[in-house]
Amino acid sequence: MWQVVGQTRAVSLLERSLDKETLAHAYLFVGPHHVGKMTLALNLAQALNCEAAERPCGVCASCQKIASAKHADVQIISLIHNGDSAEARSRVEIGIDQIRELQHSSNLPPFEGKYKVFIIDEAEFLSSEAANCLLKTLEEPVGKVVFILLSTSDRLLPATVVSRCQWLELAPLGADEVETALCGRWGIEQPKAKLLARLSRGCLGWALLAASDDALLQQRTEKLDELLNVINTDYEGRFAYVAQLVTLFHKSRGLVQEILDLWLEWWRDLMLVKVGCSDRITNVDFEAVLLKMTKGYSLAQIRSFLDSIREAGEQLRQNANPRLVLEVLMLSIPGGKYG
Ligand SMILES: [Zn+2]
Repeated sequence: MWQVVGQTRAVSLLERSLDKETLAHAYLFVGPHHVGKMTLALNLAQALNCEAAERPCGVCASCQKIASAKHADVQIISLIHNGDSAEARSRVEIGIDQIRELQHSSNLPPFEGKYKVFIIDEAEFLSSEAANCLLKTLEEPVGKVVFILLSTSDRLLPATVVSRCQWLELAPLGADEVETALCGRWGIEQPKAKLLARLSRGCLGWALLAASDDALLQQRTEKLDELLNVINTDYEGRFAYVAQLVTLFHKSRGLVQEILDLWLEWWRDLMLVKVGCSDRITNVDFEAVLLKMTKGYSLAQIRSFLDSIREAGEQLRQNANPRLVLEVLMLSIPGGKYG
């Protein structure tokens, strides 16, 4: 019983390989954050070590130990954070010592199960030394060992490492699929499940996090309120907002990209409302605001500003001057009146 939701292509490929005993020595699972890469990796580790006929059963001692991270032969290698300062966070990586330890352990036979499984989470953060060291291990497969690398993009890993792995892509789920899973399997009530499913961008893991931690939804509401304030304020206010974003950008580029993604979703919703497809909007809890706001803009204005947001995101990724890019974006907000 595979616990991962959706991902039928990846699951059926793994099932076939298990049945025919044609498993690869190393896998690379690629997909966005919270799409289910770790769940699938743990499921594969369970299937490899399961004691039942139908693998993974999820209930045998081995499956349960793996689910609770207590199985001696299943190890997760992840980022080590060396403190909370911005500098420590920016230098974070999976280091050579962690991979040397993995190498040593992979040479020993399984301790209590059938297979040793090493899951390397966020493998894009392997230092170049660590990646080289890992490459040697991947080039010389030994016995009952399977490596599973997880990453948001194969392009962030050395091509030599990628070429040694069987590549499996995990695509985001449909909003309906997430909503059904949230209601059916986790018992989350309808309106909340619908909102979380739309906001999750197809990543069930994010929806589950947000369901258990109200702070995530709270932060999003605050950012949307900021966005609405910026649209309604004068240029002075908008440039003050840019200054805030620039400071944030120097701390974490990812957070500024997240804000731009929120903007994109908001303006995409405005477009959907404008063309009469309100049932497909993401920000379902802001539908009334969207309806009111959309009256102030033409479709051409909304489309043009959507292009501006995408362009700003692209320029930031290409290391353009953040102040300049964001100021231009603020000047491109169409002049409709909201409120
Ligand atoms: Zn089992």
